Amino acid sequence: MMKYIYPFEEGNKDMRQLLGGKGANLAQMTNLGLPVPSGFTISTEACNAFYENHNQLSDDLLDQIHRAIAALSAKVGKTFNSSTAPLLVSVRSGAAISMPGMMDTILNIGLNDQTVIALANLTANERFAYDSYRRLLAMFGNVVYGISEATFDGVIEKRKADQGYQSDLDLTVNDLQEIVSEFKAIYQKELNHEFPQDPTDQLMAAINSVFESWNNHRAQVYRRENDIPSDLGTAVNVQMMVFGNAGEDSGTGVAFTRDPATGKKQLFGEYLLNAQGEDVVAGIRTPQPIETLRSSMPHLYDQFATIAEKLELHYRDMQDLEFTIENGKLYMLQARNGKRTPTAAVKIAVDLVSEKLISKQEAIMRIKPESVQAILYPEFDEQALAENKIVASGLPASPGAATGQIYFTAESAKKAHDDQHRKVILIRQDTSPEDIEGMVVSEAIVTSRGGMTSHAAVVARGMGTPATVGVNGLQVNYQTKTATISGNQLHEGDWLSVDGTHGNLYLGQIKTTDLTVNDDLATLLDWAKDEARLGVYANADTPKDFAQALNFGADGIGLARTEHMFFKPERLLEMRRLIIAEDAEGRKTPLKRLLEMQRGDFYELYKLSKGRSVTIRLLDPPLHEFLPHDEKEIKAVAAQLEIDPDYLAQRVDALKELNPMLGHRGDRLAVTFPDIYQMQIQAIMGAALQLLDEGIIIEPHIMIPLTDSKAEMSWVRDLVVNQIEDLFDAHNAKLEYTVGTMMEMPRACLTADKVAEVSDFFSFGTNDLTQLTFGYSRDDVGSFMPAYIKEGILPADPFQTVDVEGVGALMKMAVDKGRFTKPQLPIGVCGEIGGDPKSIHFFEAIGVTYVSCSPFRVPVARLAAAQAHL
Ligand code: ADP
Ligand code: MG
Ligand code: MG
Repeated sequence: MMKYIYPFEEGNKDMRQLLGGKGANLAQMTNLGLPVPSGFTISTEACNAFYENHNQLSDDLLDQIHRAIAALSAKVGKTFNSSTAPLLVSVRSGAAISMPGMMDTILNIGLNDQTVIALANLTANERFAYDSYRRLLAMFGNVVYGISEATFDGVIEKRKADQGYQSDLDLTVNDLQEIVSEFKAIYQKELNHEFPQDPTDQLMAAINSVFESWNNHRAQVYRRENDIPSDLGTAVNVQMMVFGNAGEDSGTGVAFTRDPATGKKQLFGEYLLNAQGEDVVAGIRTPQPIETLRSSMPHLYDQFATIAEKLELHYRDMQDLEFTIENGKLYMLQARNGKRTPTAAVKIAVDLVSEKLISKQEAIMRIKPESVQAILYPEFDEQALAENKIVASGLPASPGAATGQIYFTAESAKKAHDDQHRKVILIRQDTSPEDIEGMVVSEAIVTSRGGMTSHAAVVARGMGTPATVGVNGLQVNYQTKTATISGNQLHEGDWLSVDGTHGNLYLGQIKTTDLTVNDDLATLLDWAKDEARLGVYANADTPKDFAQALNFGADGIGLARTEHMFFKPERLLEMRRLIIAEDAEGRKTPLKRLLEMQRGDFYELYKLSKGRSVTIRLLDPPLHEFLPHDEKEIKAVAAQLEIDPDYLAQRVDALKELNPMLGHRGDRLAVTFPDIYQMQIQAIMGAALQLLDEGIIIEPHIMIPLTDSKAEMSWVRDLVVNQIEDLFDAHNAKLEYTVGTMMEMPRACLTADKVAEVSDFFSFGTNDLTQLTFGYSRDDVGSFMPAYIKEGILPADPFQTVDVEGVGALMKMAVDKGRFTKPQLPIGVCGEIGGDPKSIHFFEAIGVTYVSCSPFRVPVARLAAAQAHL
């Protein structure tokens, strides 16, 4: 017989896989001697057995549950159906990986028409007893039988309206008894049978549905979004109830040991008196900040603060705690590592290092590389902000600023985003787990109700999406698809700007600022740099990009694409003159002009580099990319160049290729138009020599694109080196320099030992290498790639994450062969893949020297590089 059940006394925090996170932590808190209501956990193995047993609880499991309930009864001195001491329990789901709000929990199991009276007598509090009963009826009906929450809520809302009540607290005993009868009638009407009166039946049905909820739609969406495997299963916790709704000396709350938005070290939370379970997070009544508890119930506050501190020391991380106060006594109901914004995650990790709770390495390992991109979150441009008026304010639930078009439902937001590629803002009274898919695609989230721990706030922080919640003066009307903000009426699709850092809303669109690295992130990135073996460089062509990259901690430039420099209008003109020239003679003047301009570019980049390495790639794209294509454009350009349009059309035609990406480009251009590369070398070396005159020593790194053989590389290398040596002679000076090759042709990888003989470094161009290895035109993959991923033919888009098996094998071969020839050969990777954390792990493994990626990916890559090495 398999052991499926573990009383809280038997577990500990390391048993998450088996007991789920909630169960393992309830056990751990129990064993730390904290006040936790007694109970037991049914393991995740039982959940998997349930699925194997055609979604039924096996006899064996039923038997173990009966025995566990008997043991619990004996321990707490309460039994199911007792008229003197009725046992009530909650049935709480909890998977190994926390999935907030995704699974279902039922409170007050054990109440029925008899025990409700017993509970009322026992506590001398009829109101409380019926309040608990109506909660059970609604939760049970919803979770077990799928009756909508709205059906039950409607009854309560109607009653409140009829009686002219403001709050749930105004409901009298009589009202609650009426509500209970009406709820029971809902069962009859919707299901044709009664609410099950037998506590054991209730319990088994509840356990059954928790197991089933593992596979509900919301849970599946959440798992998909978060890469959580589907076969982990959930555990079920059965726990004696304690009552936060037993009167004004009772209550329920949630608190974080540190501020989950900023990471600041201070208790942060909310509670409600005379309330139960989810009332706080559901945003039904506006909760009190935890600070208030300090003055109203100082003794309990101190006890709670001490426990919070103890748990943080124990788990060595920020904790998210649930507690309930029953008649002045504190109970702990949940502890888990708290969700936090990426900003808070970094601050907390850095703070925990200075508090000596964790090591620098642990701090690095705790941050998801992808998440740091969100820290570089934009804020509204100060000047633009000054010109706009705050229309309404709410709670600053999740930092960052965003502008977008408003939608009132998750579906419409998702549709506008997917189909029309709109930047959307989800605006609602409140959100619930059903809204996940709409929240994921939103630039920002706004709600009219709810507090800092409402569903909207928690989920937005987890995703790093700006959110402002509980906005005063905001009315959302789902029927008319309108929102009124302080008297302004907005319709679906209208623009709104949301500042989640300060909790403000603005009408219309507002410009956001560039992204910045805060001090904590800078500290963490410094540590990451110390721990990483891989260097992290940026792909940057302009001083602006380079400055941004340096700001993000780049080691230098791994790829400067010179062609981008030719696309500025005045240069494009010269470039066109160059291309349409008949011969070398005709190319002279435009080349001279381009040389001047390009030398200026390189001078700026080198000047900014302050001794960091800058690798410049010579011209790569086919020449026709610089030429106009349709008749109208040809006419205009011909006029500009003062030439005959027919002649231009003829030149355009002559340069046309059937497969331009496989055509006359890269170093092939060097062979046919050597003067272009010579000009670029003059520009690069000219800039370096100019700086030498100014006392700054630069070591130029020149990269040749598209090489596929030693012979070809050797030819181009000679061209480059001869030009350089001529310049040195003319200038009567000398500089160190290197000439390396891109590795982007499969043939170059296959013959890398030979190519290395004439290359000072390699740099993988993963876009072309992937394109040529798969034979996928990277500009056309959109038509079939999604289908390939959906059908599982490809595990992921190989242009975003390296294809280890195929492209990776070529890369590894090239590394090994290259290093066979030159053991110290520097080898880089450039292209977006260079900033992809998963790919970086592979590059670390095959011994690549550095990666180079877009400036915004530099912090991500730096962290991933450190994690790959640790
Ligand atoms: P979730 O994972 O959605 O937070 P929980 O299992 O934590 O679900 O329960 C929902 C709410 O009910 C929480 O506020 C929790 O504190 C409360 N709760 C759960 N079990 C009990 C219990 N035995 N006594 C009192 N409150 C409980
Ligand atoms: Mg819940
Ligand atoms: Mg909980």
